[in-house]
Amino acid sequence: MLAIVVHGGAGRWKSEKIEKAIEVLKLAAQKGLKILEDGGSPVDAVEEAIKVLEDDPLFNAGTGSSLSIDGKPEMDACIINDDPLKIGAVIGVSSVKNPISLARLIAEKTSHHIMYGEGAERLARIFELPEANVVSDRSLKRLEEVKRKIRDGEFESFMEKTAKLIKEHPEMFVGTVGAVATDGKSVCAGTSTGGTYLKLPGRVGDTPIPGAGTWAEGGVGASATGVGEGIIQVLMTKRFCDLVLSGMKPMDAAKEVVNLTHYPAGIIGLDLNGNVGVYHNTPYMPAVYIGGKNKEVKEYGIHP
Ligand code: ASP
Repeated sequence: MLAIVVHGGAGRWKSEKIEKAIEVLKLAAQKGLKILEDGGSPVDAVEEAIKVLEDDPLFNAGTGSSLSIDGKPEMDACIINDDPLKIGAVIGVSSVKNPISLARLIAEKTSHHIMYGEGAERLARIFELPEANVVSDRSLKRLEEVKRKIRDGEFESFMEKTAKLIKEHPEMFVGTVGAVATDGKSVCAGTSTGGTYLKLPGRVGDTPIPGAGTWAEGGVGASATGVGEGIIQVLMTKRFCDLVLSGMKPMDAAKEVVNLTHYPAGIIGLDLNGNVGVYHNTPYMPAVYIGGKNKEVKEYGIHP
């Protein structure tokens, strides 16, 4: 069974943007499915699908990444394949055009699983991965908006500000991207993000933490999105895989793991048979699934 599911981030999307997001997500899913049909691996499918999303400034990953509070991009990405086991994650890179490709490189060309910062960027240069200025006008504008709120004293202390902002403006956390694909033999999951707005320089979210934002094991894989701190607290994707492996339907498992957190969050997941799980507690989490003999296309997370 060939199948792929992709998401564009849990949060509060504006209605005109959600339509565009679904269009791009369909393109990404179709590209991934075509790769599987042509005999490519789920790892190839996930990498290429996520690259489509990283290259679109609509999403908070690659070009268009959220900025840390000092105005710099610090992108995280992770790719995990169950069989053969591959784990690659990159933390805090700022000039790599496609962090998901660097995560794959770490999984396949080094003896490590996780690399960060300058060392990871150096590896990207050695392998001649394309570089890019990923700071978009949109991300600069949003950062300025947040800073203005802080200057105007709309929030009292830093942690309170963050908590309040998360509650009132879940759209600040919109746009991380993820994909999970299967060719019926193995499952690969990948996630890529610019992180959250207002993050302190050096903050690491759930995306590059295996078992938190990204996981694949025993024929099941998942990618999570939302406020990383909440996803880390419940190791959301690992828990999803465990539940599905113990016999729960992916849809039920997705709901169960998202309900473990009070933070805004969402998840997509797949098993080897192409059974899909999607759930979010945010108003939106645009996602597209394509799979099965009839290449059925399903859209999720576009109605509040
Ligand atoms: N989970 C990501 C993070 O906390 C953000 C997101 O999914 O929008 O870094």
